[in-house]
Amino acid sequence: MGPAAGDEAFVSLYRRFRPGRFADLMGQPHVVAGLQHAVRDDRVAHAYLFSGPRGTGKTSAARILARALNCESPKDGEPCGVCDSCVEIARGASLDVHELDAASNNGVDAMRDLVAHAALATPGRWKVYIVDEVHMLSNAAANALLKTLEEPPGHVVFVLATTDPQKVPATIRSRTQHYEFRLFGFETLVELLRTVRDAARLDLDEDVLALAARRGRGSARDALSALDQLAASGSVGDERPGLAAVLDAICEEDAQAILVAATALHEAGWAPQQLPVEVVDDLRQAFLLAVAPELASVDGPERQRLHDQAARLGLPRLVRAMELLGRAQVDMREAPDARVVLEVTLVRVARVDLDPSVSGLAERVARLEQAQGAGGAPSAGAARSEAGPAPVRSPGARPTLGAVRKERQAAAPPPEPVAEEEPPAVVVEEPVVPGEPLDRDTLVEAWGDHILRSLPPLAKALYSAGRFLAVEDGTAVFAVANAPHRDRCADLQPAVEDALASHFGVRVPIRLVLDTESDTSAGPPRPSRSASGPPAAAETDPADLGDDDFDPDAPGVIVEIDSLVQARLLEAFPGAEEVQP
Ligand SMILES: [Zn+2]
Repeated sequence: MGPAAGDEAFVSLYRRFRPGRFADLMGQPHVVAGLQHAVRDDRVAHAYLFSGPRGTGKTSAARILARALNCESPKDGEPCGVCDSCVEIARGASLDVHELDAASNNGVDAMRDLVAHAALATPGRWKVYIVDEVHMLSNAAANALLKTLEEPPGHVVFVLATTDPQKVPATIRSRTQHYEFRLFGFETLVELLRTVRDAARLDLDEDVLALAARRGRGSARDALSALDQLAASGSVGDERPGLAAVLDAICEEDAQAILVAATALHEAGWAPQQLPVEVVDDLRQAFLLAVAPELASVDGPERQRLHDQAARLGLPRLVRAMELLGRAQVDMREAPDARVVLEVTLVRVARVDLDPSVSGLAERVARLEQAQGAGGAPSAGAARSEAGPAPVRSPGARPTLGAVRKERQAAAPPPEPVAEEEPPAVVVEEPVVPGEPLDRDTLVEAWGDHILRSLPPLAKALYSAGRFLAVEDGTAVFAVANAPHRDRCADLQPAVEDALASHFGVRVPIRLVLDTESDTSAGPPRPSRSASGPPAAAETDPADLGDDDFDPDAPGVIVEIDSLVQARLLEAFPGAEEVQP
């Protein structure tokens, strides 16, 4: 442990309490055992690759290795910590340790410089060269490094550290001994923070340590930074006022309450950017408590609160809220007024009926299914929206699918099911209402004006390359150029059918055909889920994701999350193309 800072200028806990011996390096027992034994048994390699997330001890381990190698009286592979060499290395003043940060200095000149130094051996001394973020080296610099690794000078150890080992050239990787540093477990972080607290004589209780450990998210550096902040603010007591109120408002689907809670936090001094980070952190813990409780890192009353909130929210809503708030964090960086983005997002999180995204639609469909399965009315969120005057609307005033359906059901007697093989019990939307046939012109106009632009990015991209040929018996015939394209469209057909249903208030099944000629009726119906069989919404069976009884292993969850991830990726990287394996 380093010296206590006392009245000196502020030095972060992370810098003051860098581990100085292998025994102090926590959370990486496999690394410690390997390196310490190598020193003790004189089997030190010429080059190591330390990979792992930031703040997991990679450069600390490299410095301990340097100390152990050059210590005047090492014991069992450990540096003594008090000899001149140990002290100099700890001070960062030793000539035996050179560090190059490739993230800020990735050119070939810096590497040549380093390599030239490496060639000048000092008798009896080990030189340790640490190259941080080695994957950032330029090609020329990487080649210069590789040449040295091919014929390493004696008594030189290269420690190449990286957060992204896959980007390190294989030629370099293959010449190293690779150690993977892992994120710290919650308990390990708390233990580390406890050690530091005691050494620094900080008056902080266990709650503060737990909170700092959570903030660290597996990184010792981040956890110690959080501890620095908490030590400065004094306590954790009202450190996150009103955060529970935000989650409560999400559970209650209360848009007003969520804005009130957010405003209170803003007035308490929170930056708009801080709120989604903290809320997502809470939601993530709630998510873990629901899916894999052993991975959650909250304790005490907090754990009970989040567990209850997870049960009230249900898995689909948890996932959707995390996604929306995660995206808001990105959007807020560019927005002229971050608060506007935040508030719109919070309202969307609270009110699923105001969220036009796929996950929002999926959740609404799931609720309808639940309501239908129970023989009751649609649940709160769907029923809350007000129905507009006409069945076909501009997008601005578009009511929810549930609202339109309610209105229809009130206006007309339930339609006789047309001759279709879909059993009504599991069908989400009714077939097209007889007497109001949808014609192609109406469909094409609505498609071009509203529906296409409301689709998720991937669906939009795929479906904008095709066209509607006809509407036959309520089924929209959609033509695309070739079979692979058709198959990819088929994958996203549920989302498009949802969008059609949402717009027209009735289910409009799609039949995908190839655009070979204008005569579409000749095309045989596709055997897959597009033309027959249960509607795809039933295939993913969101009913399985019910609020009270969620099952993360249900296939629907995977399918839904998978396609959402795909769509999000496309949103995040416009123009990216998905490469089929
Ligand atoms: Zn020593």
